[in-house]
Amino acid sequence: MLQVSHVTKKYGKVFACEDVTFTLDRGSATVLLGPNGAGKSTLLKSVIGVLRYQGEITIEGLPNKSVEAKRLFGYVPEIPSLYPNLTVSEHVEFLARAYRLKDYRAYADELFERFELADKKKKFGDELSKGMQQKLNLILGLVTRPRLLIMDEPMIGLDPHAIKELKNVIAELRAAGCTLLVSTHIIDSVTELWDRALIMQTGRVRANVTKAELDAEGRTLEELFFAITEHRSENGEVVFDAPAAGGGER
Ligand code: ATP
Repeated sequence: MLQVSHVTKKYGKVFACEDVTFTLDRGSATVLLGPNGAGKSTLLKSVIGVLRYQGEITIEGLPNKSVEAKRLFGYVPEIPSLYPNLTVSEHVEFLARAYRLKDYRAYADELFERFELADKKKKFGDELSKGMQQKLNLILGLVTRPRLLIMDEPMIGLDPHAIKELKNVIAELRAAGCTLLVSTHIIDSVTELWDRALIMQTGRVRANVTKAELDAEGRTLEELFFAITEHRSENGEVVFDAPAAGGGER
């Protein structure tokens, strides 16, 4: 479970996140959408505790910057940052030692197989293609078996097999009670996978809606996204009182 309460993050005069509040239930998958610069990455980085911000964030009731909370979440960053001098398996081992994981090898091997990296285990970080780096990035987010998994644009650079496998993994984790928060620009890529959608624009959550609520209104996520992000007044100015399904922030 993730609770974000009144989180505001400013860069100079820019509100990257402004008074963001929402709760994600255990065993649910939430898709985070928004145009470029909407504040998605800033929000995710606030949740994982690497930024200073105003407001409060708890993971399973624990303050997000506590060591106990950090053990509970996995993070897949938008841009993989691998160690050029560590091999693929050494990356996993390094993480396993940091988290003091014991029985991780079988699961790591399963993930290497599923994401087709099993024959790349001895390759160094800087010998991997962009897609392979992204696959390792994903495996590092998954191998700790997180209770909360945060992924920033995880599908970028993945081949169709890896995208299919990632979707399977998301479905399995959700069924196992993991809370997922996934930012993406590719709305189609998450169809059938999400329970809740958050749509951000200029630092604010403009819609917080469940799939059931949207289905009941007979609208698609894409329609809602464009209704919010392309809602303009007659003189072409963007207006922010667009009809936000689900009543905006919760
Ligand atoms: P994208 O879809 O393009 O990745 P995003 O929704 O993830 O965008 P953020 O990266 O969170 O958006 O950026 C939100 C706002 O904060 C933008 O106006 C951006 O210019 C600003 N911003 C982000 N990081 C910094 C930084 N390190 N220093 C100054 N401004 C920043």
